Amino acid sequence: MSLENRTCVVTGASRGIGRAIAEEFGNHGANVVVNYRSSEGEAHEVAEAIEESGGAALPVQADVADEAAIEAMAETTREAFGPADVLVNNAGVTVDKKFENMSREDWKRVVEVNLGGVFNATNAYFEDIKSADDGRLINISSVVGQQGNYGQANYATTKSGLFGFTRTLALELASTGSTANCVAPGFVETDMLETVPERVQEKILQRVPLDRFATPDDVAGIVRFVASEDASYMTGQILAVNGGMEW
Ligand code: NAP
Repeated sequence: MSLENRTCVVTGASRGIGRAIAEEFGNHGANVVVNYRSSEGEAHEVAEAIEESGGAALPVQADVADEAAIEAMAETTREAFGPADVLVNNAGVTVDKKFENMSREDWKRVVEVNLGGVFNATNAYFEDIKSADDGRLINISSVVGQQGNYGQANYATTKSGLFGFTRTLALELASTGSTANCVAPGFVETDMLETVPERVQEKILQRVPLDRFATPDDVAGIVRFVASEDASYMTGQILAVNGGMEW
């Protein structure tokens, strides 16, 4: 499942799941664009780790919600590594509140990053993915998009939205041989989960048959499979990586 000489772009790759995906890609020979918004030091650490493992990496600062910045990142990618073969739309944020306390700003912020960012990055790299030999669009959704979750109306909406987006892009890319798939993790040990109060984490864990939260590496291995040649005949799918939770 080598990714030798494949150009792979991972949004939000400075921390958490994105970081694990970027390092996994690098370990398998890819040229990796390590996108980040504000964690410059961490993004450079990820790039160094990839280079130490024999891959090539380029950290690029760009807010996914900023269309011009993402267009510029795509240009930088092409100059450094040539056109992208794989785009992983991973960057995401939460602003958790009960709906009755949720302001339009809380709603907009999450939609602008989690869906607006997916539009911007997919749009900026679309011609690359379309023209690639076996191109890959991989969207990171969530079990929350499948189940809903108390206090996450904005976030759940964006993560469900990725299902329709992925199915549609799968159809529109199909004639080119490139694929679009969604990976929907359960609850993963990252900074994002840290924001969930401990008593709520305990309740969530009771619903996970495997009786543990995922590690970022649990998700990264599946994403690497989807990015690989072995997954060439799979498109428009949602891969649930959630420890056996029902949805
Ligand atoms: P995390 O630990 O909070 O890391 C978020 C990453 O996204 C960071 O690298 C951050 O970069 C980047 N990011 C945030 N906003 C950005 C923006 N506007 N532009 C560019 N980069 C941005 O989150 P995570 O838990 O790894 O989550 C990654 C993805 O998995 C998200 O889409 C999330 O919804 C999804 N997910 C997470 C879980 C979970 O339990 N953790 C479960 C299911 C799905 P900076 O540090 O530079 O800001």
